[in-house]
Amino acid sequence: MISYTTTPTCVFCDSIDTPEHFVWACPIKQSVWQSIASRYLVSPRELTLHHIISLSLAGLSVRPEFKLTFFDIIATTLLQIWSAHWHFVFHQTTFWSNGVIAKTILHLP
Ligand SMILES: [Zn+2]
Repeated sequence: MISYTTTPTCVFCDSIDTPEHFVWACPIKQSVWQSIASRYLVSPRELTLHHIISLSLAGLSVRPEFKLTFFDIIATTLLQIWSAHWHFVFHQTTFWSNGVIAKTILHLP
């Protein structure tokens, strides 16, 4: 049964699933964004969905000790969230936020 691929609710928290919820607002994904932002950004609390969708720094800056661009950080985090989400859906692999955070950090140069 693959009925879960057509459900309008989030597979993790039962909220209505939207692109915004999928990428950003779901609590388990928020914890990933908060950890990544805290590690890499000068003002981590300023990160919003708008920054991610627009790929615009708009007032944010990457901590200078990291030789990374904002794009590196956002793209790598999105990829790891995407991967973990679909591994959960298709392989029933637990979406473990700390694991997603660790993989994101590992994949950033
Ligand atoms: Zn959710």
